[in-house]
Amino acid sequence: MKVKTRFAPSPTGSLHIGSIRTALYAWLFARHYHGKFILRIEDTDSLRSKSISVASILRGLKWLGIDWDEGPYFQTKRLERYKEVIQTMLEQGSAYKCFCSPQKIERERIEQISRGEKPRYSRTCRELKQQKSISEKYVVRFKNPLFGQVTFKDKIRGKITFNNKELDDLVIQRSNKIPTYNFCVVIDDLDMGITHVIRGEDHINNTPRQINILQSLRAKIPVYAHVSMIFDENGKKFSKRNHAMDIIKYYEEGFLPEALLNYIVRLGWSFGNQEIFNVSEMQELFTLDSISKSSSIFNMQKLLWLNRYYLHHLPTKYISKIFENYMSRININIKNGPDLKYLLELFKGRYHTLKELAQSCKYFYEDFESFDKIAADKYLTKNNYDILKNIYKKIKKMSIWKIEELSLIMNSLLIEFNIKIKDINMLLRVVLTGNMYSPNISSVMFLVGKKKILLRLKKAIYFIENENSNKNFSKNEILSI
Ligand code: GLU
Repeated sequence: MKVKTRFAPSPTGSLHIGSIRTALYAWLFARHYHGKFILRIEDTDSLRSKSISVASILRGLKWLGIDWDEGPYFQTKRLERYKEVIQTMLEQGSAYKCFCSPQKIERERIEQISRGEKPRYSRTCRELKQQKSISEKYVVRFKNPLFGQVTFKDKIRGKITFNNKELDDLVIQRSNKIPTYNFCVVIDDLDMGITHVIRGEDHINNTPRQINILQSLRAKIPVYAHVSMIFDENGKKFSKRNHAMDIIKYYEEGFLPEALLNYIVRLGWSFGNQEIFNVSEMQELFTLDSISKSSSIFNMQKLLWLNRYYLHHLPTKYISKIFENYMSRININIKNGPDLKYLLELFKGRYHTLKELAQSCKYFYEDFESFDKIAADKYLTKNNYDILKNIYKKIKKMSIWKIEELSLIMNSLLIEFNIKIKDINMLLRVVLTGNMYSPNISSVMFLVGKKKILLRLKKAIYFIENENSNKNFSKNEILSI
């Protein structure tokens, strides 16, 4: 049997971590067994389905590299097929038209609740011999078996049994002739040859109803695997209803797909104590047997840790391509500064996200607005004025741009002004970056480049002369001091 799985989101909200995990597990399972993975958009609920959510689903999956072999199928494009099956079921007597008005159903519901009973359709129309006039409004209901049990062996949770007595005669076609979710899922899974249904545990209660419909159609029952919930850091269910973040926001926050996939796969699945998995390892090792029954808790710190790990360990060439796109998205023109691969080498392992990294190395590409107040108060002082002028002169005179040359200049300053290396480094950090943090200052100077260094030295000198006013000089304003 060739494995075939599917991801079947309803486009009623954005794609979040919970739904991505379902997609990832179904995808990995299919890939592990060299089977097929399909994407199906369950959009029959016209009031809640939105094209913006479809876009979010497609964009998120593409970004993460979760590719599908068939689809995307849209249930709204398969209405004819559902109609055809409903007609057959009506003819064969496994479904029936129900003419009860919504008011009657609501009255019954209230009465049942007041008697302490579980509300359920009273089945008034189930054995109705006489068909009403065509114009009358009706829904179509499935004739659920009245006795017996439905049992299935969930791959994650083991044997689950429901009593048919507990199940309602489900509406499979609404009065507007649109079929309902539970019916479409069944027909799709059947028509598309789905062998394994991997989905959230919130669908466990739907499973016996779906199995009953499948059995009435004499269809093969797929294997079910219901994955446990994910809770956010405050213990709330992670779902689109409580505004879980759209997966694409993780891209905007500077996460790498590798880190996110690695993080998500471990939310409920394990392989010994291993924490780091690349995609091919996931595909190789993933089975449904090691999925945990217990719920998981989203932990941002762990995700950040993984992202930093991947920023550090993936090949610089690869990260630099991704970083280049990221920089252009946030409008930093990398043509104005050093090749990103040099920066990545310099900043390796320092930051958790591309966003942090981009913010911290912006000064290589564009001038900063103003000096950080604390840094300026400490270093851009009258005492340092002569030192800055001296550095300016020396750098201006440099004809070969080399780190060694820059180090020589710094050393000469130590002797000339009798200051400590630590202080000169900090002073230059403030001048070049606007604040007190940067990697090795000689490398920073080398990469910032002569022109920008001179401009920023001028800015610092101006700042001291004009009692702490910030001014950015244009490139043509490099005058000799
Ligand atoms: N469309 C359903 C949802 O988004 C999933 C259906 C299924 O996987 O069977 O929750």
